[in-house]
Amino acid sequence: MSFEYADGLRYLFLDFNAYFAAVEQHDDPALLGRPVIVAPSASEHTSAIAVSYEARQYGIKRGTRIREAREMCPGIVVRTARHDRYVRLHKVLMALIERHLPVSKVYSIDEAAFRLSPPEFTAPAAVDLARRIRAAITEEVGPALRASFGLAQTRLLAKLAAELQKPDGLTVLEPGLVLERLADLPLEKIPGIGRGMSLRLARNGVSDFQALWNLQPKQARRIWNSVQGERFWYSLHGYEVEEAETQRCMFGHSRVLYREHESPEAARIVARALLMKAASRLRHAGFFARRLSLSMRVRPEGRLGGDAVFAPSQDSFLFLGEMDRIWKHLVSRHDVTRLGGVSVYLHGLSQQGDDAVCQGDLFAPAQDNQVELRRAKLWQLIDEINSDPDGRLARLGRPEEAAASDGNTSSRHVTLATQQGLHLDYLGAKIAFSRVPDEAEFRF
Ligand SMILES: [Mg+2]
Repeated sequence: MSFEYADGLRYLFLDFNAYFAAVEQHDDPALLGRPVIVAPSASEHTSAIAVSYEARQYGIKRGTRIREAREMCPGIVVRTARHDRYVRLHKVLMALIERHLPVSKVYSIDEAAFRLSPPEFTAPAAVDLARRIRAAITEEVGPALRASFGLAQTRLLAKLAAELQKPDGLTVLEPGLVLERLADLPLEKIPGIGRGMSLRLARNGVSDFQALWNLQPKQARRIWNSVQGERFWYSLHGYEVEEAETQRCMFGHSRVLYREHESPEAARIVARALLMKAASRLRHAGFFARRLSLSMRVRPEGRLGGDAVFAPSQDSFLFLGEMDRIWKHLVSRHDVTRLGGVSVYLHGLSQQGDDAVCQGDLFAPAQDNQVELRRAKLWQLIDEINSDPDGRLARLGRPEEAAASDGNTSSRHVTLATQQGLHLDYLGAKIAFSRVPDEAEFRF
């Protein structure tokens, strides 16, 4: 896991208001503006699972018994849930929003986070885009579907921003104003803090937002009793956390693409950069890989993927060649014009001469031929240049170019020429804390 402070707005979060009830109002416009609740089944003994905002004015909430709701609001409309319909409309809505922004994470049927692109990192542009998306929902789907929008540095903060104003909110949590804006937020309203966690926090003297904010990352880790606490702390404080980049049996990276990189050609360059980085980490850890997998998320919906198997190797040229082959195969056989994300993984790990380190991955030992050895040496040198902490070797690369591109000052001195000018931040293991990091990893 790695993280980096987001110095602008990075995410748009959408939370549809009283979603099931809104879909019922959408499908039957006679219900617009009227109190509507949705019951899980056609029984008076169940409880409301969705309550329109008009019904909330009568004090009806999620969990209110249907019979009670009828007493509180005579004439209230009660509909039985139609989950297949809610899912269908969810897909329509997601596809509509995906025309504007790539989805980062779907949280539930009525909540999702989308990734902003660099031109929208500032509030005026982000708000403008959010308004355009809201208008598109109203015009192309209908006025019944309303949502609260949140804009912030991280997905967690964007979700909290969306929470601040319901229904129909559009809230910007500007970097630097997070504490001020969220000071009155009850802790239980924060995703990741359930009843059990809020009790545990209270036992540690944390009973309001200010106290939560003032924790140190290590304290959060102790209270959560897992790295999850530290992850939570960084998300709350505006750091983008790159999740699960290393699992025991593979090295790889996954990335939601900026809109600027949605064309297959730009996305391929991002995938190549991700692969270069994974390969560098593979070599650094002393592993060889014998399988590469690539997956791409196609917008508005769909996923494509492929694998390549080869003799155990550390050679980025081989990996790049295999990845390009899979890429061309996928793109030529499917109608791919816009991509939302790419993932590249190296698996089938072994250490030369050892048995496969992961069960089920029996393999032949790394090829002991001259080409493989020469290439291994070359990549070793490139890795050294890229990770040289004092910059002594950096002169061999072109550091001024790496530093000039996008204000990215990380030390990727040896890169593919075509990577210049792309926003390839967050690729790095800037600070890793899910395991004891090697110093050199910070520089890859
Ligand atoms: Mg909702």
